[in-house]
Amino acid sequence: MDYPEVKVIGAGLAGTEAAWQIANAGVPVKLFEMRPSISSPAHHTDEFAELVCSNSFGAISPDRAAGLLQAELRIFNSLIIKTADKFAVPAGGALAVDRSKFSKALTEELEKHPLIEIHREENYNMPSQSEIAVIATGPLTSKKLAKEIRLFTGIDSCHFYDAASPIILGESIDYDLVFKASRYDKGDPSYLNCPMSKLIYDKFRDELINGEQAQLKEFEKESANFFEGCLPIEELARRGCETMRYGPLKSIGLWNPDWGDLQDKQNRLKKRPYAIVQLRKEDVDGKLLNMVGFQTNLKWSEQKRIFRMIPGLANAEFIRFGVMHRNTFLESPRLLSPTLQFIKQNSLFAAGQITGTEGYAAAAAGGLLAGLNASLLTKNKKPMIFPDETIIGSLMNYVSGNNKYFASHRNKSFQPMPASFGLIPNLDKRIRDKKMRYEAYKERSIKIIHEFKKIISSNLEDRLCIPRI
Ligand SMILES: Cc1cc2nc3c(=O)[nH]c(=O)nc-3n(C[C@H](O)[C@H](O)[C@H](O)COP(=O)(O)OP(=O)(O)OC[C@H]3O[C@@H](n4cnc5c(N)ncnc54)[C@H](O)[C@@H]3O)c2cc1C
Repeated sequence: MDYPEVKVIGAGLAGTEAAWQIANAGVPVKLFEMRPSISSPAHHTDEFAELVCSNSFGAISPDRAAGLLQAELRIFNSLIIKTADKFAVPAGGALAVDRSKFSKALTEELEKHPLIEIHREENYNMPSQSEIAVIATGPLTSKKLAKEIRLFTGIDSCHFYDAASPIILGESIDYDLVFKASRYDKGDPSYLNCPMSKLIYDKFRDELINGEQAQLKEFEKESANFFEGCLPIEELARRGCETMRYGPLKSIGLWNPDWGDLQDKQNRLKKRPYAIVQLRKEDVDGKLLNMVGFQTNLKWSEQKRIFRMIPGLANAEFIRFGVMHRNTFLESPRLLSPTLQFIKQNSLFAAGQITGTEGYAAAAAGGLLAGLNASLLTKNKKPMIFPDETIIGSLMNYVSGNNKYFASHRNKSFQPMPASFGLIPNLDKRIRDKKMRYEAYKERSIKIIHEFKKIISSNLEDRLCIPRI
């Protein structure tokens, strides 16, 4: 049977996986990759799925979020993970690859696929309503296309720069040292507050000032010219002893009822902390917490060391570290449905880091979902949503209209997110032991994903007319 072709723009981690899944479903693909005629500031080769920095896909054990994501992708016969397994190099507990062999093999695999037509050129037009297409142009989308995307989504819904604060796993906080309150008791007490004495504040400030900075790439240096509303926390620390206390660490208007009478001036002056770090929910249940105003250029190891000095955060587990770098990403919860289709143009999909996922395997997962769903669409079948209990599903639902937190907080801006157990729904029965809980997440996910795969496969059934590669 002849199916309409699907256009895939970008042959990175997401586009490579998407193109392969679509072609393997018996649907022809036109794949556009701008390299080598135009290169991004981070890529160095003309191969597909180039790993621009580290060669690691993260922990391999499926009782870790990264490992479970890889396991789920394996069940779906992901080309990216299959190739990573083939060219794995010893890396302790991580899945790391020989990057050159990895990308070369993927390029060859797509080049020889009879249903994939490769166009080595920049695609700078938005696909029309009559085409089925996947945009997978990554964090360094070409300027021309990025401009078109902005016209399509609205200027505030496509970002070029990521200035994000760290995100912490809620259960790793010491709740005896923090308190819940909103400034001046306005609305629900939706913040967790970490009070600091002057002694701790001064020491903390010293460490921030002297903390080791991440090495910015040449192309990132221009965006590190801070704009005043969004200074890195270490820069605020540098500007003066009091600057952070008049900024994100302001204690005024925040009071713990355990400290006694707020109206009693003597008591207030005695008990009021010198500074307060605020943590804000990043999801409905508060399993993930954002450190308010802590965008930073500090090295990740330094963030861990220094931020753990904050009362209540001594054992904080960081899901995502703070960053300030160039990153083209969409305000996805407002633009995409959980099938990765644009809400305003159903024939158009997005996948990979441009949707606000983070990491190589997460980009492959987006490519897999968009690829499977684009194939279903060509066959006049309904695109599907991955179950929330899986790592793929929880992440794709987070970066889409299924994100309940963004649906109810219209003026909150969206920040990219890696795969994490913090996004997965709770188990029916609470398991206190972390290792056992993660093991239970894994078992639940693997069971569900096998069942889900059967449904998707039967929906795509007629692909068997094409030999599997
Ligand atoms: C400097 C830097 C370092 C990073 N380090 C890591 C790391 O160590 N670990 C990690 O997991 N993640 C890292 N990332 C994030 C990483 O980019 C993603 O994890 C992953 O590459 C995203 O996959 P993707 O397919 O969405 O984008 P990409 O892999 O970037 O693929 C996008 C592709 O689209 C092409 N393209 C862009 N515009 C067009 C156009 N208009 N027409 C045709 N082709 C186009 C690009 O050439 C590219 O091949 C890093 C990102 C950057 C920028």
